[in-house]
Amino acid sequence: MSNRILNFSPGPAALPEEVLEQARADIWNLDGSGIGVLEHSHRGKAIDRIFDEAQADCRELLGLPESYAVLFLQGGASTQFAMVPANFLPEGGTADYLNTGAWSKKAIAEAKLYGGVHEAASSADSNFSYIPNRDQTSYSAEPAYVHFTSNNTIFGTQFVTEPEAPSGSVLVCDMSSDVCSRPLDPTRYGVIYAGAQKNLGPSGLTLVVIRRDLLDKAVREVPSMFRYHLHESNGSRYNTPSVFGVYMVGRVFRWILDSGGLSGMAERNAAKAKLIYDYIDGSSAFYGTARADSRSLMNITFRAPTEDLEKKFIAEAESEGLSGLKGHRSVGGMRASIYNAFPPVGCEALVQFMKHFESRNG
Ligand SMILES: *Cc1c(COP(=O)(O)O)cnc(C)c1O
Repeated sequence: MSNRILNFSPGPAALPEEVLEQARADIWNLDGSGIGVLEHSHRGKAIDRIFDEAQADCRELLGLPESYAVLFLQGGASTQFAMVPANFLPEGGTADYLNTGAWSKKAIAEAKLYGGVHEAASSADSNFSYIPNRDQTSYSAEPAYVHFTSNNTIFGTQFVTEPEAPSGSVLVCDMSSDVCSRPLDPTRYGVIYAGAQKNLGPSGLTLVVIRRDLLDKAVREVPSMFRYHLHESNGSRYNTPSVFGVYMVGRVFRWILDSGGLSGMAERNAAKAKLIYDYIDGSSAFYGTARADSRSLMNITFRAPTEDLEKKFIAEAESEGLSGLKGHRSVGGMRASIYNAFPPVGCEALVQFMKHFESRNG
C-alpha cells in the first residue's frame, strides 16, 4: 500500500487503488492519444467511448432494463434534492418523504419550495437511530412520489430493502452512500440518484437512473439544466460535463464488475462490517449508536464511555494511520466509513486498534 494510509472518511472516500493507478496514467495520456483525459474535448471520439462504456457498465451492473435511462449529471445529490420536486411535485400536490436523518431533511426542505410534503415516517424521536418499519409508516392518499434515503451516512442506519410504497406510486431514492454496494431490483424505482463521492468516484458527479416514461413528465417549466429529458437526449452532454468524473465512475463500475458485481460487493461489505460490529458488541468500552436491526454496512457509528476518551481514540488512531474516524457532530463519537473500495484489511486494522485502545484504557 506504499505511502497511503487507511482512509475512513465519510466522503469523498477511498477509491480502488487499481483505478487510481490507471487514472494516473490516463491523466497523462489517454489510450495513446497523446492527450490526457482531462484535456480531451467532451465531443471527441475518445470521450464518446468513455461515456458509452460507463453507461453500458452501469446498466450491466445494476441489471437495468431498456426502460431505464442512465444520466451523469453535476451538482451532487444536493441538486437532485431540488430537481426531483421541481420536475415531479405539482403545486398543490403532495410528495411523501421518509425522514431518516439529516440528508432526508435537506431533501424535504427543497421539496417544500415546490409543493406539499407529507412525512410518511420519521425516526427523529430517537435522533435517527433506527429505520421506521411498515407499521410506523403512513402514506398520504396519492403521493406524487415517495422519497427515501437508503443509507444514512451521518447516523449509521440503512434500509434493509426498499420501503413498500403504495402501489402505482413512484419510488425515489437518494442512494448516495450505498449505491452499488449490494444487489437491488431496479424496477421498483422511478428515480435513483447518488452523489459519486462515497461509493463511485469524485465529488460533483451525480449518477441518476430514471425510468424513461418519467423523463418528460415534468409538472412545470424548469430551467434547462433541471430537465431530465434534455440531459438524456444529449447523452449527458447538454453542457460541458464532468468528463473526469464520468471517466472515474466508469472505471469503478468496471472494478465492481471484475470483483464479482453487486453480489460480490455485498458479500465483501457484509464481512467487513461484521468484523467491526462483532467487536463493538463484545466490547465493554465501545457501543454502537444505531439500533441493531437498522445498522449500516457502510457507516459504522460508535461511541466510547466519555468524550475525552473519544478525543483520545480519534487522535491516537490518526497518528497510527487510521484517518477520518471522527463522527458527525450531530451524533458525536466515532464513525468508520467503509464503502465498497475500503479494503478488508483496513477493517481488521481498526479492530486491532480498538482492542489495544480498550486494553490500555479499559
Ligand atoms: C453525502 C450525501 C449527500 C450529499 O451529496 P452532495 O454530492 O454533497 O450533494 C446526500 N445524501 C446522502 C445520503 C449523502 O451521503
